[in-house]
Amino acid sequence: MIIDGKKIAKKLRISIAEQVIKLDRKPGLAVILVGDDPASEVYVRNKDNACKEVGFYSEKINKPVDITQTELLSEVERLNKDDKIDGILVQLPLPSHLDANQVIEAINPNKDVDGFHSENVGKLMQNKAYLRPCTPKGVMTMLATTGIDLVGKNCVVVGASNIVGRPMAMELLNAQATVTICNSKTQDLSSKIKQADVVVVAVGKPKMIKGDWIKDGAIVIDVGINRLEDGSLSGDVDFDSAQEKAAWITPVPDGVGPMTIATLLENTLTAYTAREEK
Ligand code: NDP
Repeated sequence: MIIDGKKIAKKLRISIAEQVIKLDRKPGLAVILVGDDPASEVYVRNKDNACKEVGFYSEKINKPVDITQTELLSEVERLNKDDKIDGILVQLPLPSHLDANQVIEAINPNKDVDGFHSENVGKLMQNKAYLRPCTPKGVMTMLATTGIDLVGKNCVVVGASNIVGRPMAMELLNAQATVTICNSKTQDLSSKIKQADVVVVAVGKPKMIKGDWIKDGAIVIDVGINRLEDGSLSGDVDFDSAQEKAAWITPVPDGVGPMTIATLLENTLTAYTAREEK
């Protein structure tokens, strides 16, 4: 069966919009985009549109590619102090002359709706998560829709980046699954995947996971988004062969992608609620 990210994300956005209508003040999200990378521009536009759709206050802040670190940090500081803003997101990657880590650490952790600040990463590690990285949290929402209990399940996460693989593994561990994390140096990846009840792949290599690696009845979550030469999109999983083996599988597009943005809105509402309760 297909885990329909588009449908689950829509349901989540409707539920957020219904909550926003009842609020006195609109939750506010600011997204900073440095430079004019076309892919980043699309992501930022989609985030801005999603904010408007659910009734959020949204600020799209475009900064020139040659902005200095000091100027960018002072923009973050301005947003930290802005009462209209509950969530701040700096679109990554940043141009190479900027220190992304320092910028993320400058965001008030209570407004860090991407969940990348070390304070929020630490809370996730300690199973006291507050603002959780959007893509892995969105995957957990998708897994919940299958109704399958993750406790004790063998889960394999392929990819160990700070934004997807590592927090994904922590989410699954926090759900009391048994987790294996693989990276580019992992030996005999296929045999690890063959043991997995749940496979989450976030590598960025089209169709690298083959259908005959998948255990019968497994859940397969494909985070990868790869643009092929013919212009079409592909995940990291060979969908056609994998769907023959999997009980549940996410498509690309319309799988994890829409969930990431819906979860960003969810996190912004969480940050808003926490600020209002203070
Ligand atoms: P990164 O490039 O930051 O990380 C890739 C990870 O994959 C690294 O940990 C790397 O290992 C590992 N890796 C590389 N080759 C192999 C291999 N042969 N076997 C096992 N592991 C391998 O990528 P991201 O995590 O940022 O993104 C991954 C993919 O997910 C991309 O396609 C991206 O576009 C997509 N993505 C999708 C999102 C969505 O909303 N759907 C959100 C974010 C990303 P090592 O650590 O050893 O280098």
